[in-house]
Order: sequence, then structure tokens, then C-alpha cells
Amino acid sequence: MRAVILAGGKGARLAGLRDDIPKPLFPVAGVPVLTRQLTALKNEGITQITVVTCHMSALLEARYGDGRDLGVSLRYYKEPAPLGTAGALPLLDLKEDFLLLNGDLVFDFDLASMLEFHKKHNALATLFAHPNAHPFDSALLQTEENGRVTGFLPKEGKPAVYENLCNAGIGILSPALLKDFSPDGPADLDRDLLLPAVSTGRIYAYKSYEYVKDMGTPERLAAVERDVAAGLPRLRRRDRPQRAVFLDRDGTVNVYRGFISDPACLELAPGAAAAVRKLNELGYLAVLATNQPVVARGLCDERTLCDIHRRLQTLLGAEGAFLDGIYVCPHHPDKGFPGEAPELKIDCDCRKPKPGLLLRAAAEMHIDLSASYMVGDTARDVGTGKNAGCTPVFLRCGKPEPEPADVAVFDDLAAFVRTLE
Ligand SMILES: [Zn+2]
Repeated sequence: MRAVILAGGKGARLAGLRDDIPKPLFPVAGVPVLTRQLTALKNEGITQITVVTCHMSALLEARYGDGRDLGVSLRYYKEPAPLGTAGALPLLDLKEDFLLLNGDLVFDFDLASMLEFHKKHNALATLFAHPNAHPFDSALLQTEENGRVTGFLPKEGKPAVYENLCNAGIGILSPALLKDFSPDGPADLDRDLLLPAVSTGRIYAYKSYEYVKDMGTPERLAAVERDVAAGLPRLRRRDRPQRAVFLDRDGTVNVYRGFISDPACLELAPGAAAAVRKLNELGYLAVLATNQPVVARGLCDERTLCDIHRRLQTLLGAEGAFLDGIYVCPHHPDKGFPGEAPELKIDCDCRKPKPGLLLRAAAEMHIDLSASYMVGDTARDVGTGKNAGCTPVFLRCGKPEPEPADVAVFDDLAAFVRTLE
């Protein structure tokens, strides 16, 4: 597989730091970002790489030559004038699926797993996607549960609630996507190439917690340098076991109000967003694990339950926090009520205190359960933690319940998270 790196950027937003080098040569913890990219690609088995250049291209070519010093084979395409994020693609003679990436990203991820996903869905494009700490001012993807992209939300003018899912700037693209694409000048990848292809149903988001971050502003550069110094990019690879904090929903993350069947009734518990943000920063996966029999009981439909979780993500995102996963048991065992959904009235293996949700999350996200916590406000949550082999944590702040004797007890999520620092 060939990689195409869009390295033509001027790095205008970094201009206050240095203006004698193009952005790809900008050092991140002492190593130019392009060197980091080429090394990371080689580690994933990609050695055929096209570097699309524009600004100060001679400096780049002089520095990397044919790439042999780094064990890769480089081709250059110099744009006569800036062609945007897609204008050069039809000019590169791409005959097979290729990896396209922005030149300002620091990353470390398991490419084989992403490629497997891409092939399984026979996708025209598979976009590496993740939640971020500022969804309110990011362009976001709208998806179905299996990852199929149904729309793009612009930076401005979003609906009241949305999924926190951002295109990270890395994608696997099929040359079939470029058929009939011959822009006369600059073109935008999202607007001109991906958005028109959404209707094919073959644009997918590959959701991953692995490390992909841009260093395109002084603040982001500082953050990436901190992460690199802490070894976070490598630790976040999905082939490494991860630590998670599983979070019950009602009474733990949001204020306990019994069954919630209307998004407007969901309100964050005091301090919960800051606590989740701290989990994000500490490198724990923050994974929601919740029993929601509201659909089974006929209290709302699946779309509304989705909107309730979109609202939760929107409220957390407004405070710089995000969930890495949302796992829901929609089932309920007792049959015979008016308006219920019979297909969900089953004795499943995922309704807490059964460990099914946590076991599924652990398998999908490669979580080491013995290094993880299950936090909730009920004996049911404590039981779930024990049954899954996690450390259970009980919170006093939710549903009024007697405190269990044999587990750690805290006033609220923030008090527990402080002990992890
Ligand atoms: Zn279930």
C-alpha cells in the first residue's frame, strides 16, 4: 500500500515560532514531524510514499532525498500552486487503495486493523475517526452504528445535539473514489470528494482511541510534545492492553432522575465533566456501561435513546471531555407490559450486574479488566465490576442505596478520579 502525505502546508499558524522551515520540518520533541511520519509508516509496513509539496519544497527534497536513509522510497509531487486537500490526488496515478494523511499529524496506530475494517466494508473511503476535547468547534462526522458515514457537520451551525466524532485526518481511499474527479485547481477532500460520495453508502468511519493528533498550532504542538515525552502514542496502540474506567450513567455521570426518556431531562452531575476530562488526560479509556430498558419498556424509541446519548456527548464536549465508548444493554427480562418491545424482553447476558457489556468492551477495545475500574451508584454496578474482574467503586451521589461494606466508596465521580492522579 502506498501512502500520500499532504505536506504542502505553510504552517501559518506556527509562524510565530519559526518561519525558516516548512511545517513538515517542524521539530516535535526534537524530531521533524515528517521524519516521525515516515518512521511510523515504515513501522506499519508502508515504504512507498508520495509526498505532496508546495511551500519550500526544495528544502524538503534536499532533506529527505529518495528516503533511503529512513528505509522508505519517496516520490514527490510539487504543486504548481496550492491545490487544497484533494486537488493533487487525480494527478498522482494511484491505482490501488492508498493511505492519505495530513502532514501535521503525529500518530501511532495499528494500520492492519484499520485496513481489515476497510476491506470488510468494501469501502470507497475509511476515515480514522475519534472523539476530541473540542467538538463544538470541530467539523464532525455523522454515522450509523456500524460506522457508515451519513453526513458531515461543519464547524459552525451544528444541531443542538451531536455525536462527538471527528475526522482525524487519516484515511484509506480507493482509486474508484477518484474516478470522474478532475477538479480544475484546488479542491477540498471533505466537500468535493467525500460528501458527494456519502450517498453510495461506502464511506466509513473507523472509530479508534489510538493516537492521532495534529501539531498545527503552538498550543497543539506543546500538547503533542508532552504526549510524546510521556510515551502516550505507543501506549495507545490497540495492540497494547488499555486501562479503562467504566462509568455507569444515571447517578454517576448525569443527575439521577429515574428513567430518562427525553433528552432534555439529562443533566450532567456536578463535577462529572471535569472528572471525565481528567480521565481523558490521564490516559484511561472512559467507557459508559449502562442498562437502558427504556426502549424495551416502550418509554421511548431507539432514535430518542440515541439522542439522549448525543446530548450526553454534547454536554461533556462543551467542557472538554469525551467518552471513548458507549455500551448499552437495551434489554429487560420481565414480559407482559403494555407498549413494550417484545424483541428486547429477553434474559440477556449484558444487563448489569452481568458482565456482558464490560466483556464486549474489553474484547473490542483491548482493555485489561484487572487494571480497570467499574464506577457506579448502585449495588448492581458493584456486582458488575466484581463479575467482570474490575475494581468496583461505589458513589454516594446517585440513587439512594445502602453503601456496600467491601468496596471503596466516594461522594462522587470527581472524588474518585482524584485518587487516580
Ligand atoms: Zn442486555
